[in-house]
Amino acid sequence: MNISPSPWTPTTYPIPGSNPAPLETPQFDTPVLNRKKRGVADKDALWPQHSTIRVSLLGMTEEQKNFTKKQICKWAPHINLCIQFTDRPDGHIRIKADNNIIGGYSDIGKDSASDEEASMVVGFRDGLNAFAGGTITHEFGHALGLRHEHQHPDTNLDFNPKLIHERAVKSIPDVTLEEVKVNVIGKLPRDTVITSPYDRNSIMHYKFSKEELNGGEPVPEINELSEKDIKFISSLYPKVYCPPCRRSGFGFFPPPTV
Ligand SMILES: [Zn+2]
Repeated sequence: MNISPSPWTPTTYPIPGSNPAPLETPQFDTPVLNRKKRGVADKDALWPQHSTIRVSLLGMTEEQKNFTKKQICKWAPHINLCIQFTDRPDGHIRIKADNNIIGGYSDIGKDSASDEEASMVVGFRDGLNAFAGGTITHEFGHALGLRHEHQHPDTNLDFNPKLIHERAVKSIPDVTLEEVKVNVIGKLPRDTVITSPYDRNSIMHYKFSKEELNGGEPVPEINELSEKDIKFISSLYPKVYCPPCRRSGFGFFPPPTV
């Protein structure tokens, strides 16, 4: 597998006003900014179809491991990849717990396998709550190759960059407004991504308050896969595909019921 390195892609913000961490407590420990409406995937980051992906769970208690597995297994029934969990540190995807942060970050898709460091960090500072669960599900979406839904080329969100930047600096004190404009809310170039119609209920979509948007409805915190998330990931890693048969009346067979 020809794999090229990619920058870290930190993803989640702390929930504004909800027990924010002190500034010296990093929400992200990564320098580059980079949670997705119905679907945006990186064209070059998908794992080989039907491959087996080993996932290392590092620095976790047994309770944290079981919690993490449960979130990842929300994706597993909808893809053709075989997910194997391991305590060894040499998995294709290496997930490290950080009990001092909330939120997390992840490499995108098969870029996760490009080095030996953790490819994903997830925060358990506030325990095994819904947000921590949503974060893991979101980050694993990145690890499958998904990008942020709010950066979908067809999004119609009118962002207030200044307020979004103010939120971002609570996580990354030295992040600039320009970096936020490009890496957090900038639309992804259409020719670099695979898309399906924009989905504001996607697990890969950030939460945005009314004030962070110049009009329109606020986007709530999403902690579960949407129906469109499931359809999109199923299209990227289809479980069963039979080429059309030449005999008329036969060809595509429905996938087995999960
Ligand atoms: Zn993200």
